Amino acid sequence: MKPSDIFNCKKCGDCCRGYGGTFVSLADVKAIAAYVGTDPDAFVANCCESSGGRPVLARAENGCCMFWDQVCTIHPAKPRMCKAWPFIESVLTDVANWHIMASVCPGMRTDVSDNVVRACVKEMLFPTETKVFI
Ligand code: SF4
Ligand code: SF4
Repeated sequence: MKPSDIFNCKKCGDCCRGYGGTFVSLADVKAIAAYVGTDPDAFVANCCESSGGRPVLARAENGCCMFWDQVCTIHPAKPRMCKAWPFIESVLTDVANWHIMASVCPGMRTDVSDNVVRACVKEMLFPTETKVFI
């Protein structure tokens, strides 16, 4: 199996509707600030909230990510976490996270083995290291 066999985005936007916020790295902050035409400090002050001491994208009054408007309005510069979803490191830390994420993402399959999930995530994160799938 390959990653596209276990995840197929339905473009429902549910992941942009405020399930805990989206973490942004310093690189994300710089990229998004440049994309929206502001500086990084102003971006953090005006477009981020704090979660566990780390910046996450702020949410609009409706609970959605402030950059969601039927589509992602910062798509070319969206955070790495959004680009990588659902093939993210925390799934390798604990594959149970895949199932938690899948409970809010209809594009993720849960009827495959944990080994397949791990292999697909590794393939996406480290494409040159993982070639054998179960
Ligand atoms: S919740 Fe999942 S299926 Fe829906 S838009 Fe987000 S990634 Fe795609
Ligand atoms: S940055 Fe875009 S893709 Fe990421 S949560 Fe916000 S609207 Fe969704």
